[in-house]
Amino acid sequence: MSIAELPVDKTDELKIVKDATCTFCGCVCDDMELTVEGNKITKAKNACVLGKSWFFNHHIEDSPEATIAGQPVPFEEAVEKAADILLAATYPITYGLSDTTSEAQRVAIAITDWIGGTIDTTTSVCHGPSGMAFQGVGEVTCSLGEIKNRADFVLFWGCNPAEGHPRHFTRYSLMPKGQFLPNGRKDRTAVLIDVRKTKTARAMDYYLQLKPRSDFELAWALRGIAAGVEVDPDIEQITGIPLDMLEDLVSKMKEAKFGVIMFGMGLTMTRGKHINTEAVLALARDMNKYTRFAAKPLRGHGNVTGADNIVAWSTGYPFGVNLNRGYPRFNPGEFTTSDTLARGEADAALIIASDPMSNFSNPAREHLSKIPTVVLDPKLSETAKIATVAFTSATYGINTPGTVYRMDDVPIPLRPAFESPYRSDQTILTAIETRIREKQLAAL
Ligand code: SF4
Repeated sequence: MSIAELPVDKTDELKIVKDATCTFCGCVCDDMELTVEGNKITKAKNACVLGKSWFFNHHIEDSPEATIAGQPVPFEEAVEKAADILLAATYPITYGLSDTTSEAQRVAIAITDWIGGTIDTTTSVCHGPSGMAFQGVGEVTCSLGEIKNRADFVLFWGCNPAEGHPRHFTRYSLMPKGQFLPNGRKDRTAVLIDVRKTKTARAMDYYLQLKPRSDFELAWALRGIAAGVEVDPDIEQITGIPLDMLEDLVSKMKEAKFGVIMFGMGLTMTRGKHINTEAVLALARDMNKYTRFAAKPLRGHGNVTGADNIVAWSTGYPFGVNLNRGYPRFNPGEFTTSDTLARGEADAALIIASDPMSNFSNPAREHLSKIPTVVLDPKLSETAKIATVAFTSATYGINTPGTVYRMDDVPIPLRPAFESPYRSDQTILTAIETRIREKQLAAL
C-alpha cells in the first residue's frame, strides 16, 4: 500500500476531543480538551505552556513514508531491508522507546529477543540510576492520586517541576484540595533541596541549598538523624546545610501524616548516581518507622515510565538488557546504548522515537553514523537523517491510540485528535517483526 492510500482526515470540520492526553512530559495529563480543525489542533484547554506548544506545533509532515539511504521507497521494501539489516547483525541494539506507546514498546522488545540483541531506552541517560537503585533497595511507592489526597509533606530533591512539569504542583503535589487535605496548599509543607534556587524554590515553604555533589552525604546524614545517631556538625562543611536545619527537617518529616520525596536528575545524574538514589529511597523506607512515606522519581518523557515497565516485565530489568544468550542480562555500562556505541561494539541499530545523534557523545555518534540503522520517527530528526532505513511514523497520543504510563506507573489510555497518513510505531514494528520471523522460519 502506498502512502496515498492511507486514511487521513481531510475535512476542516471542527471537532472537540475531550479527555485527551498530553504526552509531552511524565505528568501525562489526561484532562485535555482539544479543539481540532481538520489536521490542526487550535485549542488545548487545560494544557500548560509546554503542552500547548506540543499540541499546536504538531502538523502532518510532508515526508515520504519510508526511505532507504534517503530515497523514498514503498513501505514493504523498507520493511524487507529493515528485517535484513537486523537479521544480519551480530550485535544489534534497540534504543529509544520513551516517546511511543507501550504497545509499540512490546513489539520492539519482541524483535530484539528474536534477533538476540540488546534493548535499551532513554532511561539509561536520565533515570537509569533510579532503575538500578530500585533493584538494589526497592521502592516505597505511591500514586500521584495518593499524593494529591494524602501528602501533607512534599520534599522535592534535585528537580524543577515548576519549569519541567508545569502542572505537577496544581494537579498533583502542591495546590489541589485532597480527600484528607481539604485546604490544599495550606495543609501541606513543601521543601526543595537543590543546588540551584530554581523557580520551584519560590513555591516552597523551605529551600535548602546543598553544595554540588553532596547529595549522598546529605541523605545519609538525614537517615542518621532520623535513627537517633549523633551526626557531626561538620556535615555543614560538606553539604552547606547546618545540622540544626537538618534536624528540623527530619522532625517535620516525622510529624507528617503522609510524606513523599520526589526526585529528579539533579539527584540521579550527579556524583554518586545510583548510590545517591539508593540513599534517598532508603531514607523514605526508614521514615516508615515513624509515619507513611514514599519516594517517586519525576520522569521527563511522556512514556519513559512505560518503557521501564514494559522492558522490566518482559525481561526482569528496566533498561540496558542483553538478550543474546537467550536469557536477559542486565549490565548498565556494558549494555547501555551510549556505551555500546562509544566502544564501537554494535553493528546495527533500531532506533524508535529518539534522537541519539543530537545528544550522544561524539564517539557514540560517530559509530552510529557508520553502522546500518533503522529509524522510526514522526520528524526528520538528526538520527533519521543518517538512517539506512527511515520510517516516518504517526505521533503517539495526537494521531494514534494506545497506552502510556504516567510517572507514577499508572497506565493511561490515549485518545487521538485526528488521523495521520503515516503508520503507528506499533504497526511498523509489527511488520518488521513478522518479516523477521518469516525469514528465520524459512532458514530452519
Ligand atoms: S504538565 Fe506535562 S503532561 Fe501536563 S499539560 Fe503540561 S506538558 Fe502536558
